[in-house]
Amino acid sequence: MGVSVATLGFPRIGPRRELKTALESYWSGKAPRQTLLDTAAALRAENWKRQQEGGADIVPSNDFSLYDHVLDNSALFGVVPEAYGWDGGTVGLDTYFAMARGAAGVTAGEMTKWFDTNYHYLVPEFSAGQAFRLASTKIVDEFLEAKAQGLVTRPVLLGPVTYLLLGKARDGADPLTLLPKLLPAYAEVLGRLADAGAEWVQIDEPALVLDLTAEARAAFGAAYTHLTRAAPSLKLMLATYFGALGDNLATALALPVQGLHVDLARAPEQLAAVVAGARPDLLLSLGVIDGRNIWRADLSALLDRLEPVVKARGNVVIAPSCSLIHVPIDLARETDLDPDVASWLAFAVQKIEELRILALALNEGRDAATEALAASDRARDARRISPKIHDPAVRDRLATQGEHDSRRASPFGTRREAQRAALGLPAWPTTTIGSFPQTPEVRRARADHAKGALSDESYTAFLREETARAVRWQEEVGLDALVHGEFERNDMVQYFGEQLAGFVFTKHGWVQSYGSRYVRPPIIFGDVSRPAAMTVEWWRYAQSLTERPLKGMLTGPVTILNWSFVRDDQPRSVTCRQIAFAIRDEVLDLEKAGARMIQIDEAALREGLPLRRAEWRNYLDWAVESFRIAASGVADATQIHTHMCYSEFNDIIAAIGAMDADVISIETARSRMELLDAFAEYAYPAEIGPGVYDIHSPRVPDVEEMVALLRAARKRLDDDQIWVNPDCGLKTRKWEEVRPAIVNMVSAARMLRG
Ligand code: GLN
Ligand code: ZN
Repeated sequence: MGVSVATLGFPRIGPRRELKTALESYWSGKAPRQTLLDTAAALRAENWKRQQEGGADIVPSNDFSLYDHVLDNSALFGVVPEAYGWDGGTVGLDTYFAMARGAAGVTAGEMTKWFDTNYHYLVPEFSAGQAFRLASTKIVDEFLEAKAQGLVTRPVLLGPVTYLLLGKARDGADPLTLLPKLLPAYAEVLGRLADAGAEWVQIDEPALVLDLTAEARAAFGAAYTHLTRAAPSLKLMLATYFGALGDNLATALALPVQGLHVDLARAPEQLAAVVAGARPDLLLSLGVIDGRNIWRADLSALLDRLEPVVKARGNVVIAPSCSLIHVPIDLARETDLDPDVASWLAFAVQKIEELRILALALNEGRDAATEALAASDRARDARRISPKIHDPAVRDRLATQGEHDSRRASPFGTRREAQRAALGLPAWPTTTIGSFPQTPEVRRARADHAKGALSDESYTAFLREETARAVRWQEEVGLDALVHGEFERNDMVQYFGEQLAGFVFTKHGWVQSYGSRYVRPPIIFGDVSRPAAMTVEWWRYAQSLTERPLKGMLTGPVTILNWSFVRDDQPRSVTCRQIAFAIRDEVLDLEKAGARMIQIDEAALREGLPLRRAEWRNYLDWAVESFRIAASGVADATQIHTHMCYSEFNDIIAAIGAMDADVISIETARSRMELLDAFAEYAYPAEIGPGVYDIHSPRVPDVEEMVALLRAARKRLDDDQIWVNPDCGLKTRKWEEVRPAIVNMVSAARMLRG
């Protein structure tokens, strides 16, 4: 068989976001259930055909999902919390979507990020006496569906250990203790797949790239001994991805499985150790094409690495490093991209083509693929020297960067005095996080403007009116530090990316974030700089309408980096520093224009933490340094705010302290301020706005509730440290909710003052 090509998963959403349309029509009652199911089946058929015709020898099934593959696994094993009133039969669509999105009287399950991706899964919730049994036939049905179309697929199943580790037990117990009860159910699924005619099953255990306890490692041995015994006719391809196996390599290699997939895009250095340690009869699947990023591969360089392995082992599988759900589907649809930049990119379809060429060259010699390899070489060489990527001014600036660039002129104590004198704020100052409701009118105006149906002048006039109204309203209700409302922004990263050099945007490059929510991440392809001021005009206009301080509002470098596809030809830390200098330029222009407060949001700082703890320090060092580069150019009296959309700071409190912001606002309403303990223990010196209004809910909190939260905060912090603000921006809320909530918030602050 030589070298074959496999894929581990293909985007479900459809090249024209067909799945989103079908789901949302079904949810709103506009389309019947059968229409949704037909669309889903058509997408699966199209995906199978596309991969097969594109050159994949091994094509997955059950990688498709109506919402989330982890939720599918919970449905498969009947892991449905009691609240959903499930009758215990098969898990039907209503129960499934109730868990995903909530339903009358029940809230949705908790969602969190899938490893270090921007994909969110539904956290499995295990009850104290959790039983497991087959409660869905999806995995078998989809295998048979493909088989009927003439394709024997390799079904994908989330592995038992990773599945348990991703979940939470309601009674606080260790989910791994459920493993002995779960394994018979897994064995049954494997048996059914074997009966249906499956030869191989891809069993995903990405937890093997994490720091694991001894118990978790032992669980792998127990699990795979059980499963390979239970289904002896079936072959298991154990898939690991998102990093190196590292100290779990021996564990993985000792498992009695027939195949092992490793991520050689994130962790190319593990190839030698994997090859050296693998049993001769273990089929290796080498994840050489990056499933997490959109760059074209250097095929010649990959061949240099692969040829000796193929020679030594004979049979080898080559594959993307992980499922392709993390990249857009087809570059061919991006007809408006700069042709040079486009020639450096590969989306899901193009990645399969790259694998086809690699396999051809490995099986028949490089001569069989001369032209394709030459094209890959040309793209690589052109990218390396392109003036579109390399900006000497940006390089020089980073090279001559000094200590002073990342240090405020004076320590916080001195700055606080200067700021108090300059700002004259009351105690318990009130503010908001930046955005006000993006109403249907705001969205429509933006869409009309983008289509050309609304002129620049009319659009600007409309935005000015919205901004003026928001500023007047903030004055009326008595907020102390105002904002302009961010009506002109489509998205907190895209808005800046569109104005920075070094970024491009796709038209159709959607990637699933969760359920029917897709994002189109910017692509950072070149050196980043800021050709012109980005926010100063809007700030100047809004500030001209009021005497009170109005915050300049920026997105921070780490967040811009973490929510983009980042160039792979230099360390992320370098790209982040480049963005930091661009934001610094904007900060200084805002200050020059008269801004006394500038907020630099770092919503995504925490989510950039590497999967392995040993790498945290390095990440946090450059992330904090980047923030400081952005923030440190201003005078003592200019107050730097930052904002983070969560409140789990225990692990990173020292880094938060090192950011040296004057004020940080965080999300604490739901946790009832307990998470401020981290700040108290650390003796965080600067000012903090712990959110008192949960903006994820339409509910309007009353004055007493917010007063109680502020009292809880003052138990942990000094009164003169505390600001009063919502958890996050208000863009997703309605004005009918925001108005009373903010009025109550201002009253709550006044109660504490009085
Ligand atoms: N300033 C942004 C806003 O208010 C911050 C959003 C965020 O942190 N996610 O919308
Ligand atoms: Zn936020």
